Amino acid sequence: MERERNLRFLKNLFKRFYEQEAPLEKISAIKYREFGFLTLEMHTMIRHLSFESENSLVKFLSEKVPADCYRSTAYYLNPSATNMGEKEWLGADLVFDIDADHIPSSCKKKHDRWKCLDCEENGYGSAPGACPKCGSKRIDEKVWFCSECLEAAKMETVKLLEFLNLDFGLTDQEVSIYFSGHRGYHVHVESEEFKTLDQDARREIVDYITGLGAEPSLHGLESITSEEELDKTLKFSAWAERLMKNGYDIVLKYGLEDLLRIGLKDKVALNLINNKEKIIELWWKGKFNQIVGVDEGAWRNIFLEAAKRSGVLIDTVVTADVHRLIRLEGTLHSKTGFRKIRVLKDLDSFDPLKEAVTFKRGEAKVHVYESPEFRVGDSIFGPYSEADVELPISAAVLLICKGLAYVI
Ligand SMILES: [Zn+2]
Ligand SMILES: [Zn+2]
Repeated sequence: MERERNLRFLKNLFKRFYEQEAPLEKISAIKYREFGFLTLEMHTMIRHLSFESENSLVKFLSEKVPADCYRSTAYYLNPSATNMGEKEWLGADLVFDIDADHIPSSCKKKHDRWKCLDCEENGYGSAPGACPKCGSKRIDEKVWFCSECLEAAKMETVKLLEFLNLDFGLTDQEVSIYFSGHRGYHVHVESEEFKTLDQDARREIVDYITGLGAEPSLHGLESITSEEELDKTLKFSAWAERLMKNGYDIVLKYGLEDLLRIGLKDKVALNLINNKEKIIELWWKGKFNQIVGVDEGAWRNIFLEAAKRSGVLIDTVVTADVHRLIRLEGTLHSKTGFRKIRVLKDLDSFDPLKEAVTFKRGEAKVHVYESPEFRVGDSIFGPYSEADVELPISAAVLLICKGLAYVI
């Protein structure tokens, strides 16, 4: 009963949205894209569809009212062929998916919960691989997202944009940034030079951007001896600059415990802490490593840690996949009721919990089973537990989409 009521409620809203708001921006080479949709009713996937124009696509959306809409990052000669071989792949955009789910943030301890389905043991934070009490792997997870994890995803996106710009020489016109409508950001690169790269080449790009196998000694930073030598290295490699910047941060901020965690010996760590001021003073002069008692091995560990912090936490599978379907720009996300929208202005000041909000008029009465405190727009709601409440429609939709409430 409750499920049906929710479904009818969402279907009405989604339908009105697709009928009235003409939400789609231009999709480049639309005729060559494959489209896929998840239905609201059964969440089954319909794919291998193609459209001649944005108009026919919008017409389809307002008739079928899907829960989620996707399009290929690839271009095909026959996008609606049901067999991959017959589609005739022509190339694909380079896309990146940054999801708060893949980024460790302390807020997860506050808003994510898990429960063992066998013994009912439960706790806060990310779910363990197996139940610590009975060893069962049947674990139910309730995950949420908040300003803090969205901010962490944004910081990763900023790092990614720097790679695309500085290391790959891409211009702003070739790179589009989107909020995904849920927990993160999508970055689309449309550039002739990247279009025909195969899966292996895309994996190389993934390794470069995530910093997989980054080796500080290849940059020679731990044994550098002068400012000239440092300058030369930095001019040659953007990665060297990242290692230097993050290395500086580590020296500045890490305490004894952190330094021991990254593999420094007690005595060396203490030497580093006691000489911190001096090291910082000598850092950009290329002479930071001349402090007695902090050896090359220690510097290597520090730069390895710097490499970890420099890499971007992207979903590696998405970028390497040349047949990927990605959420369609401008459409609704069925887990939130928010939209995937382009970040047009400055990413720094972009507030997804404001700008991706779609349903703005009216209120809805819902019964909330349980929800943490959350924000939509400028308002804070909850926490709720088995409560009947009247909420602005966007907040009600979010809870319904997350499976935490039903319409009353
Ligand atoms: Zn258990
Ligand atoms: Zn969070």
